[in-house]
Amino acid sequence: MVESAYPMITPDEAYECVVRNVHRLSPVALPIDEAVGHVLAADVATVEDMPPFPSSTMDGYAVIAADRSKERKVLGEQDAGHVAAFRVGMGTAVRIMTGAPVPEAADAVIPVEYATEQGRRVRFSQLLPSGANIRPVGHDLRAGERVLVAGQPLGAAEIGLLAMMGCGRVQVYRRPRVAIIATGDELVPLGRALAPGRIRDSNSHALAANMRQIGAEPIVLGIVQDDEDELRDAIVHGLGRADVVLTSGGVSVGRRDLIKPILGALGQVHFGRIAQKPGKPTTFATVNGKPVFGLPGFPVSSLISTELYVRPALLKMAGFARLRRPEITVGLMHDIRPGDPSRSEFQRAVVTWRGGRALARNTGDQASSRLRSLVGANALLRLPQGVASFRKGDDVEAILTTPQQGCLFQKAQAALRSRGC
Ligand code: AMP
Ligand code: MG
Repeated sequence: MVESAYPMITPDEAYECVVRNVHRLSPVALPIDEAVGHVLAADVATVEDMPPFPSSTMDGYAVIAADRSKERKVLGEQDAGHVAAFRVGMGTAVRIMTGAPVPEAADAVIPVEYATEQGRRVRFSQLLPSGANIRPVGHDLRAGERVLVAGQPLGAAEIGLLAMMGCGRVQVYRRPRVAIIATGDELVPLGRALAPGRIRDSNSHALAANMRQIGAEPIVLGIVQDDEDELRDAIVHGLGRADVVLTSGGVSVGRRDLIKPILGALGQVHFGRIAQKPGKPTTFATVNGKPVFGLPGFPVSSLISTELYVRPALLKMAGFARLRRPEITVGLMHDIRPGDPSRSEFQRAVVTWRGGRALARNTGDQASSRLRSLVGANALLRLPQGVASFRKGDDVEAILTTPQQGCLFQKAQAALRSRGC
């Protein structure tokens, strides 16, 4: 058997090595409407109170709360967006709309539901205390307050807050640009007929889609033959255009597996072998400070290694502090016999919540070529090395790989808390 010259490291060591060797990209200023999904690179403070005036939270009547009379004279109407010169006194009220400034001296709003108006007089079925249904100045944001802190990922609420504060542009970390190179003499691009011995390049498409899911920008460079000069040129070209390069294929120990020596000549190979299945030959290098991942060619292996190592690298580069997916303990719904107990195995699985706990079923045949084993999966079972077989009912760790599964994580945490853990 031909053995790789690279030392075998554990998946945890590989993760730590990647995270240690990648760095945040420099910040850029973006219009807020293009900033969703980015991470804030600088604190944002507000210079104004919000609301800037005492504002009614209901359609109703602005009154003096201390006035206990049930019937009052209506002075007129205060609409949102206008400032009328009303002054509410004892025995009077001003009809007011939601979001309108509360007139001078008024300190409560009685909702229309408690009022009957007739001929410029209003009767209230209920009176309310001072402050009722009024949003005071600065209730939502106080001038001088640091509203958003650097490191905050920007979602809909944060973009809305920026607009509320009058911020049209914002400092964020750039999305990493990722060059994708598919290697292999057998590969045919989509749309071309398959000659004998050929297969279609699916990795370019899957990896590009994965980059978009992560929030990175894919640059698909197409198929490169198993030729040393062509591969080197393609990687150098990718490094010129992108922040990160991904190659797929050509990292095993076959005669035409050229990626590792090329990366070794161009820069530094940090690791070339991980004790895991799938994805054992996954390679990580840096060339002039830029990360290059040599992913295995098998379609499942390349996506699993992307999930485990490329995703955290890209998240770190994009400024995220949280790089890992949530992990929970799940009970196996069936026996599992790992293919190679000398390596950790990452099996694709469906985790469901039943009877107060999380249970997992794998997605059938776990061959590295069988991309269908990822379809519908919401988790990766982390089967530790050194265990020859797992039995139905055994507890194992599961990485939750789809964002919606966050609720499973919360349920699992709540279940642990309720057991006093
Ligand atoms: P390699 O890592 O180059 O030895 O490739 C391992 C297996 O993955 C082989 O069966 C290849 O044909 C297959 N493979 C390599 N690259 C791709 C690709 N871009 N799309 C689909 N399958 C691939
Ligand atoms: Mg190959």
